[in-house]
Amino acid sequence: MQYRQFGATGVTISRLGFGSMRLPTKEVGDARVVDEDLSIAMIQTALDRGVNYVDTALFYCDGESEVVVGKALADRRDEVSLSTKYPVSNDKSLREVLETQLGKLATDHIDFYHLHGIGAWFLTHEKRDAILADAARAKDEGLIRHLSFSFHDKPEVMAQLIDLGVFSSVLCQYNLLDRANEDALANAKAKGLGTVVMGPVGGGRIAGLPPDVARKAEISVAGSVELALRFVFANPNVDCAISGMSTMEQVLENTAIAANTETLTEAESAGVKAMMEENKRLADLYCTGCNYCVPHCPEEINIPHIFQAMNYLRVYGLKEYAFNHYNAIGGKWVKGKKADLCRECGECETHCPQKIEIRRQLKECLEVFGAAA
Ligand code: SF4
Ligand code: SF4
Repeated sequence: MQYRQFGATGVTISRLGFGSMRLPTKEVGDARVVDEDLSIAMIQTALDRGVNYVDTALFYCDGESEVVVGKALADRRDEVSLSTKYPVSNDKSLREVLETQLGKLATDHIDFYHLHGIGAWFLTHEKRDAILADAARAKDEGLIRHLSFSFHDKPEVMAQLIDLGVFSSVLCQYNLLDRANEDALANAKAKGLGTVVMGPVGGGRIAGLPPDVARKAEISVAGSVELALRFVFANPNVDCAISGMSTMEQVLENTAIAANTETLTEAESAGVKAMMEENKRLADLYCTGCNYCVPHCPEEINIPHIFQAMNYLRVYGLKEYAFNHYNAIGGKWVKGKKADLCRECGECETHCPQKIEIRRQLKECLEVFGAAA
């Protein structure tokens, strides 16, 4: 495992962090629940292989993630920096939520306590001062070691949040398909913050590149995850990349990649550059596949799947693959409805951290793919 100095915090952090938002699940009766045994084994294997940063949040895995992480760290708490998050929109105060989380995580402190997904709105938020006062008190009492924030707003907003002068580290999106935060990360690093990026493999899209795409980008399929991680690791302004791992194979693969000290090869760099050129065309339709919009759509439109199909067509020119992808919606394997049933209520757009004009984009998708299956 490779390690970095985590900003000015004095903490040494592994380049790979364990993201606990996509823990493996299993069916129990009619319900699907986190597979605790496998999740614990995965987290502990990651620790055995040098990972020392574990990230979770109050609502990950329907609230189960923190409990499972707590069990995984029961005898190994001192080996890791533990990160979790306070959802600022929560009705309860930071203090109340923090106490709940300490209980769920079975620990007496959080190392990096994040304000979850804050943006420009936080600067004038009515509860801002109360939240920061709660955080300062929790810090004084040793319940949290550092206050941090996670971030989905426009890159230029990150500097304004940093200038509040209260944060030790930042967590944001960054990968080879989405380098929008590159300058903001450099600024964060220069200001002494620790920097953690999420989505280093593009929410699985890089890992799932179909062979035609990989060939076009001159990347071997077997190497696409490695390329994506090494691309992120090669940025000196990124201290740690958290990968949401769902299988033991991913833990083994990702930790092996994070142990590699070699820089990108020439061929890999050429592949990255080719992907970057293609990425320019992605600019106005960048959906991370976060799914935040989906539960709010009264028509159950599978928005991220539709946008993914559009990207396969527009960015990679994979016509047949894109149409098949789109037409799979509503079938055996892909839930939800196609774009033709959108009634333009706009509900989805209020929940999209990427601020995508979903209604307009869906109309374009409908024009391309049509209403028919
Ligand atoms: S605008 Fe369309 S996709 Fe968005 S929530 Fe309404 S019906 Fe669903
Ligand atoms: S909320 Fe936005 S980014 Fe997330 S899946 Fe929906 S459209 Fe994509």
